[in-house]
Amino acid sequence: MAEEREGRAIGIDLGTTYSCVAAWQHNRVEIIANEQGNRSTPSCVAFTDCERLIGEAAKNQVASAPTNTVFDAKRLIGRKFNDPMVQSDMKLWPFKVISGADDKPMIMVTYKGEEKQFSAEEISSMVLSKMKDISEAYLGSSVKNAVVTVPAYFNDSQRHATKSAGTLAGLNVLRIINEPTAAAIAYGLDKGGDVAKNVLIFDLGGGTFDVAVATIEAEIVEVKAVAGDTHLGGQDFDSRMVNHFVKEFETKNGKNISTNPRAMRRLRSACERAKRMLSSTSQSNIEIESLFEGIDLFTTITRARFNELNMDLFMKCMELVEKCLSDAKVEKSSVDEVVLVGGSSRILKVQELLKEFFNGKEACKTINPEEAVAYGAAVLAAKLSGESNEKVQNVVLSDVTPLSLGIAGVADVMHVIIPRNTPIPTRMEKIVTTAMDNQTTSAVNVYEGERSKATTNNLLGEFVLCGFPAAPRGVAGLKVCFDIDENGILNVSAEHIGSGVKNNITITDKGRLSKEETEKVIKDAEKYQLKDKEHENNVKAMFDLENYAYNTRIAIRNATKLKATEKKNLEDAFEYFTKWLVSNKHAKADVYKDKMKELKTVFNPLLAKLK
Ligand code: ADP
Ligand code: MG
Repeated sequence: MAEEREGRAIGIDLGTTYSCVAAWQHNRVEIIANEQGNRSTPSCVAFTDCERLIGEAAKNQVASAPTNTVFDAKRLIGRKFNDPMVQSDMKLWPFKVISGADDKPMIMVTYKGEEKQFSAEEISSMVLSKMKDISEAYLGSSVKNAVVTVPAYFNDSQRHATKSAGTLAGLNVLRIINEPTAAAIAYGLDKGGDVAKNVLIFDLGGGTFDVAVATIEAEIVEVKAVAGDTHLGGQDFDSRMVNHFVKEFETKNGKNISTNPRAMRRLRSACERAKRMLSSTSQSNIEIESLFEGIDLFTTITRARFNELNMDLFMKCMELVEKCLSDAKVEKSSVDEVVLVGGSSRILKVQELLKEFFNGKEACKTINPEEAVAYGAAVLAAKLSGESNEKVQNVVLSDVTPLSLGIAGVADVMHVIIPRNTPIPTRMEKIVTTAMDNQTTSAVNVYEGERSKATTNNLLGEFVLCGFPAAPRGVAGLKVCFDIDENGILNVSAEHIGSGVKNNITITDKGRLSKEETEKVIKDAEKYQLKDKEHENNVKAMFDLENYAYNTRIAIRNATKLKATEKKNLEDAFEYFTKWLVSNKHAKADVYKDKMKELKTVFNPLLAKLK
């Protein structure tokens, strides 16, 4: 392990649209520029007849070979082809995606004259290896170790796949951390102290908007809540501007350019450039020669016009900020720091609205917003690779589980083992007992969700513990242990106490829920609270009845004062009862209560004799 961690470690922000790499050098973080001198690099890979291009070069040729230029791999990574998000995103991509083995989405391209398929991990690994090359060129030595960031809502499968992408790129991934946590570390460095601070991380990027509320205390960062929109970002602002100029062109020249893909792409690039300019100047020019049928587009746009075109989108961001605060149960007046992340948070109107929302509070902007995540990742990378600088050493991290995790019990009851919002890494155990006499196997079904009925939650995985010694119901103890590592990967194990029979599972195959799904789960839990309460009551009545019956049987079986015929009557009644219970597993509470009354008329006279 020590050998593996030798040498420089870098921090990589693997973004949906742009990636950024940083390293700790000369007692500070340095953001490393690519061969073009840009400090972030497009997360884009292009395939041609003779070569493979990554980053700037790939993005530059998108107009000439759209079907062979792959971007947005982060939207695919760790997902299944039939995932509704994949299905809807696919419609917008010029490149082709098909379903591969195990329903894995595969990207189809023509490379060196041949048809090739690549997984999202492979495309991401190409971007990561580009970032590795950029850092090696700058640092002048080979780089092996890296901390890679992912969105806070990434599920287990997406984290795993991102880690695999790193491995494919020849990197030893020291840690996968959440983007808002990395940004908080970037700013948390100089802000030690034992007083808890509430931080709001506002990340408006190229294609996504993520907001997180975290608490920093004694250099521990804990993400309390996340919210956002997976399709809201810089590209949407570009689109608004594109539509504006398409209309303008039509009014001026009577021609509709929207059916010409090449003209549209040239216009889009020009709009993105103009948009960036508007973050520092109040007006910007667009000059495209021979845009359509030999006609040029020479025009201008003011910042005010740009803001007007996008105001509803900016307002949407503010609504999501409000939602995140309410989920985290933090008042806006209790927010100590607002951290700007993502290139689009440079838009002045967005900063203004945010300042207004926080009653005049200024956001942290000393670190470039599109670099803050890589910055924090580099700090952690330095710490993990043994950098002794005190600023680095003090950083300790904590993320939280977005949903409760547990197992299904008798009558489909969800036994929560790790409650929602528990800081990770964590390890929690629960002892459960067998539900039937002479049971020698037990299924362990792992769920995530907030409903009290297990099967209404999301099944993550299942395994069977078999071959433990038979015992009466409720006697055999099974120790179930949930372990979530620092990368958020869940391992579940179960062991029969006494015999040592054990089994386990790492949750990898069945995906954990996406951010949207997580939000829905929490909403549904609130909505179904009454229904769930009813289920709990029914189950409780069943347990009461079952316990009464079994306890009575034990008492009567052990009794010496009873006649053999009386004992026989009891066993018959009991036999009849267990059969009844099997066919009435999902009855209402009243049914069990009535049955209890009935059983009492049989059992109580016998019990009375024992006294
Ligand atoms: P990602 O979302 O992939 O993490 P970034 O955070 O780097 O990427 O954000 C990229 C987006 O930021 C792009 O849409 C880009 O146009 C936008 N952007 C970059 N600089 C500026 C700027 N000065 N003003 C407005 N938008 C900007
Ligand atoms: Mg980003």
